[in-house]
Amino acid sequence: MHELSLAQGLVEQLEATAAKENATRVVGLQVVIGSYCGVERDAFEFAFPFAAEGTVCEGAELRIEELPVSVRCRRCNAISHPAPILLVCGACGANDVELTGGREFLIRSVELEVP
Ligand SMILES: [Zn+2]
Repeated sequence: MHELSLAQGLVEQLEATAAKENATRVVGLQVVIGSYCGVERDAFEFAFPFAAEGTVCEGAELRIEELPVSVRCRRCNAISHPAPILLVCGACGANDVELTGGREFLIRSVELEVP
């Protein structure tokens, strides 16, 4: 499962951060998932506790912020937020658009417990 390996990669990053800050536990974290980055939010939420088990992330509260797809039209320059399945301009309907947002997958913030 793709989301499980992503969750494992995330946990590894958090372990490194926790070690650097001398933290004993990751209390919570906020992750940004773009609607066009290919990560299923539900699958990721499901996979995270498995990846976190036995690490400093065990029991951490996971909060997910979803970012919409964002495109800029090359014809009329409008910025719109189409559904990820059909990337067209919301203003003129052209499919000549540039993806400007929605591919994000990143950690927004982490709360650590430092003794
Ligand atoms: Zn347009």
